[in-house]
Amino acid sequence: MRNKVISLIMILLFLGVCLAGARKIKTDESKADASFFAMSTYVSLTAYGKTGEQAILDAQNKVEELEMLWSTTDEGSEVFALNHSNGTPVNVSGETGDLLRFALKMAQETEGALEPTIYPVLLSWGFTIGENRIPGQEELELLLRNVGYDRVFMEGNRVTLPDGMQLDFGAVGKGYTGDILVELFKEKGVKSALLDLGGNIQVIGTRPDGKNWRVGIRNPYGEGYLGVLEVCDLAIVTSGNYERYFVGADGKTYGHIIDPATGYPAESGLASVTVLAKEGKLCDALSTALFVMGPDGAVSYWRQHRDFDMILITGEGEICLTEGIKDQFSINNGYDDWEVSFIE
Ligand code: AMP
Ligand code: MG
Repeated sequence: MRNKVISLIMILLFLGVCLAGARKIKTDESKADASFFAMSTYVSLTAYGKTGEQAILDAQNKVEELEMLWSTTDEGSEVFALNHSNGTPVNVSGETGDLLRFALKMAQETEGALEPTIYPVLLSWGFTIGENRIPGQEELELLLRNVGYDRVFMEGNRVTLPDGMQLDFGAVGKGYTGDILVELFKEKGVKSALLDLGGNIQVIGTRPDGKNWRVGIRNPYGEGYLGVLEVCDLAIVTSGNYERYFVGADGKTYGHIIDPATGYPAESGLASVTVLAKEGKLCDALSTALFVMGPDGAVSYWRQHRDFDMILITGEGEICLTEGIKDQFSINNGYDDWEVSFIE
């Protein structure tokens, strides 16, 4: 219980950061907003214009509907059914099928840095159940035998998960949900909105006053934002082990992003990774995977793909940005002594 409360406080502190974008905007457009707890995090939606209010109501229902499909702990969810299928095929909804196909594709592209079948290992660290512990090496080695995205079999939306394997959409579900909500808002005619799903930010259009949205980038070492990104029509997703972690009896900090190669929390030399792209699901998958890869791996992945931008904050407190967002990023007062470099 205590761990749950601490996790919630940490999530709320983290989120305090990202909500800045919607504050104090002068506009004649009507504003609608809602904040609620879903998908183990705090969701905050803001939309402008006549249809904003209805769009937000529909969006909240949609988030709750998707959460019911993907929760690892809710016994009625599709992920729960898969995780307890003992190797028998399960027919899943189109949304779960699409998300799983995407997660498996990204697992392949990131050579397993994103690993949607990491759940047995995550569970052994107690992350989703809020009872953290440090598993032994042997236990981890045994559990890792049940990890491997290439053993998940899909035939349309009929999924076979080998006995002992378990899925977790924690690294991609919120980004994919954001994309579904962006579509929903646009269908309702919303032209200006800011969606914040636990720090996964997605913005529609510009602010109603025509200016870009201002999204804060959290200082992974403490309170506050170290800089601001000016964006429109974009997703901005950050991963970092400071978002959810526990301090073990040995005094060490253990984060929630697991390196699938070892079963231990990733310690790759990065404090946080922020990814920017049109699609939230791509940002979400990549922010987690690049965090696992570390600075060198992340840079070489970006050089091979270049269909997204990123901000890496290294373990040494260096800020590295891809060249495309040079002019959109500004560093805040008080952080001027941090070294900023550009990735080309
Ligand atoms: P994110 O906050 O998007 O970086 O996702 C982190 C969450 O994804 C964790 O809380 C776990 O639920 C899950 N997770 C941890 N490590 C991995 C990994 N290597 N691949 C996929 N999911 C992971
Ligand atoms: Mg992610």
